[in-house]
Amino acid sequence: MTGQTAKIASPCECGTMAMRQVNQFMLHDELWWDSEFSCGSCGTYLCEHASPGAAPADVREALLAAHGPVKLRLISPVPSLVPALKVFREATAASLTRARELVEELSHDGVVGTLPVMEFLKARLQTRAVPVDIDR
Ligand SMILES: [Zn+2]
Repeated sequence: MTGQTAKIASPCECGTMAMRQVNQFMLHDELWWDSEFSCGSCGTYLCEHASPGAAPADVREALLAAHGPVKLRLISPVPSLVPALKVFREATAASLTRARELVEELSHDGVVGTLPVMEFLKARLQTRAVPVDIDR
């Protein structure tokens, strides 16, 4: 399973521009993200965040900017998209409306996002016998 890392410039209390390093990865079958702040100038180091769940927009954007998006799509027709709908509801905590949109995207142009998220969804969908693959 592939994890991704990106760096985000972030000002430190000491007045210099420091770095946040953000990571998105799979751990124990869950999608995690974490964030560390470190300043090379004053030596401040903070673990800002580490838990499973969807990454916030700034983290997602930094990962997409660093690695580019990938596309998850259906590779053959399925008799029913209900299993896919269930996966999106459970795995992303999406509303029913949003989950329907994701299923629609999956069966047409593909769902676009970071590689760790798409691999996470791919594994969940394959468990429910939904034939999907990732275009990179
Ligand atoms: Zn500092």
